[in-house]
Amino acid sequence: MLVDVAVPVPGLPLLTYRVPDNLTVQSGSRVIVPLGRRTILGVVAKTQTTTQVKGLKDILQVHDEDLSLTPELMDLGKWMAGYYQCSWGEALGAMWPPLLVSAKRAKVNTQAAGDAAVRDQPLKLMLQQTGVLEAVKAALDQKAYAAFLLHGVTGSGKTEVYLQAIAHALEQKQGAILLVPEIALTPQTCRRVTARFGAQVVLWHSKLSGGERAEAWRRLRSGQANIALGARSAVFAPVRNLGLMVVDEESEPSYKQEDVPRYHARDVAAVRARAAKAILVLGSATPSVESYYNAQQGRYRLVNLPARVDHKELPTVKLIDLAEAWRLEGKMPLFSNELLDELSGCLKRKEQAILFLNRRGFAPVVMCPDCRHVITCPDCSTAMVFHQQGNQLRCHTCDRRMPAGPACPKCGAACVRLSGAGTQRVEEELQRFFPRARLLRLDLDTTRARGSLEKALGQFGRQEADILIGTQMVAKGMDFPQVTLVGIISADTALHFPDFRAQERTFQLLVQVAGRAGRGGKPGLVLVQTLNAAHPIMELAKRQDYADFYQQEIALRQDLLYPPFARLAGIVCRSVQPARALKFARTLATRMQRIADPATQILGPAPAPRARVAKEERFIILIKSPTVAKRANVLQALQGLMVPSGVKLSVDIDPQDLL
Ligand code: ADP
Ligand code: ZN
Repeated sequence: MLVDVAVPVPGLPLLTYRVPDNLTVQSGSRVIVPLGRRTILGVVAKTQTTTQVKGLKDILQVHDEDLSLTPELMDLGKWMAGYYQCSWGEALGAMWPPLLVSAKRAKVNTQAAGDAAVRDQPLKLMLQQTGVLEAVKAALDQKAYAAFLLHGVTGSGKTEVYLQAIAHALEQKQGAILLVPEIALTPQTCRRVTARFGAQVVLWHSKLSGGERAEAWRRLRSGQANIALGARSAVFAPVRNLGLMVVDEESEPSYKQEDVPRYHARDVAAVRARAAKAILVLGSATPSVESYYNAQQGRYRLVNLPARVDHKELPTVKLIDLAEAWRLEGKMPLFSNELLDELSGCLKRKEQAILFLNRRGFAPVVMCPDCRHVITCPDCSTAMVFHQQGNQLRCHTCDRRMPAGPACPKCGAACVRLSGAGTQRVEEELQRFFPRARLLRLDLDTTRARGSLEKALGQFGRQEADILIGTQMVAKGMDFPQVTLVGIISADTALHFPDFRAQERTFQLLVQVAGRAGRGGKPGLVLVQTLNAAHPIMELAKRQDYADFYQQEIALRQDLLYPPFARLAGIVCRSVQPARALKFARTLATRMQRIADPATQILGPAPAPRARVAKEERFIILIKSPTVAKRANVLQALQGLMVPSGVKLSVDIDPQDLL
């Protein structure tokens, strides 16, 4: 027998192999095949009836049948290959357990903790929750594809709705997938799911070892477990008889994979749900502009949870303008007087506070207050980051280091550090103001060890600390009833991103973080420190007014032809020899121009926003097309393209960050 095998190699079509008589395979089987001088793990895509063609190589080994890919996943992979412009094998590579040669049955425990004995009981729903749940249940009973966008303010009880919807799916003998932005950052949600469903749940995330993932795969495929809970890649979990897919915090950027295949888990979930005749539920307090637009267009059913559980008030948000203090002191104060006063009151009342620093894409940079020059890495064109240790500046991309001199290299004036301060500095200064307060710091440094994040959150939950200082880790999903005060050290950093989504991201972040306050009985207060207090986004975040935000943002997107009014693709050509990369990018852009329809824009090539990374110069071509089909048409220019040596090419469909 002959079979066509998909291998995870860019640009390769299906490859034909011979199946030796002692092996049996079928479509979806994982097989080890020789490829050039190596052996590689592939998936059988098709079996052929022809028997003998000369010169074909043999399949070397076949994995257990229970580790094979289901027809449903094979089809999903095929769709991904077409849509995301990768090979079928690369798309399937995102799904399978990373097993190379040995697929031995591992004795590992992938089953979530909290088994049968303390099973958590469903809560009695609030009226608004009942309305949403009934709609989802009715759709589940129909056993046809339907998609919901659940817009629920922070603390409105979305998670409880997900759990009861999952329970309903299980009653119908259907399985469910619950996607969360990052499993390590949402331990509370995970605990609630496992406390409710015990051994029914399989945790699915990128840190699973090969053996663990194989075991998780077997448990789901055999139907021993029927719920997969995990981050992005759990969208591929081989749940049997899939009835429900929930994507929590659907607007989170972490749902987009940055490497090939560059898929968006929310969008893949929609495609999978449709094919499986399952129900899709996208939930968020701040839906992405694209998803809300889809709901407006009738593609998703919009369901709302407009109030917090038990009619608790949303927190009051106050903007604190730091501009004047900055001008007076020549540097941004970390803590305004208002914030210090409120912290002090909070401590006196024995309540808890969270201080938030935005670290995604931000680090302490050095800026000249006279000429506004920011010191950047000559190799990578990104801002150099100040490190107290050794008093030096370091590039976080190529690790170039230089001494942190006091004078501006351009004009000689004394430079100042933009107080994007690290969590450590916030902790130190705060301790000086409140020597007896118990502080807890959560960042990548303090949570590196396995289990340390869970431990720290446990401490905070038991009120063994007064103030939690953290990065975006503290923004999502956390539910601490004693927190009455949230301070945002600087709201500006996200706003200065060179990306059309910067405003949306800022709004989302502020509303999400603010949502951590006042979840218990007492009202919450949020203080937002900013240099841009007059910016419309700050005002909208203050009112936590999603509808107004959406109206403003959708108009901008329409004017500038950005999603959801355009389908984007970013094509980056990069090389250590800039002239070569640019020449190639120009050729490519011309080819695209030639075949593009008049409604499609081909922009560039231009230096990418991060123009130089690790000595490679990067040029970006941005495609803006009115439809997927028109975009695909332009992308045909990539077919059979000879990329000159020394030049690297990457294609990002629906890019989330314009890098
Ligand atoms: P969201 O996910 O919308 O931010 P959660 O699901 O975390 O909200 O709910 C917020 C809090 O309200 C949680 O402590 C949760 O246990 C509680 N809660 C949710 N639904 C109910 C309910 N029906 N009755 C009582 N408490 C509830
Ligand atoms: Zn200067």
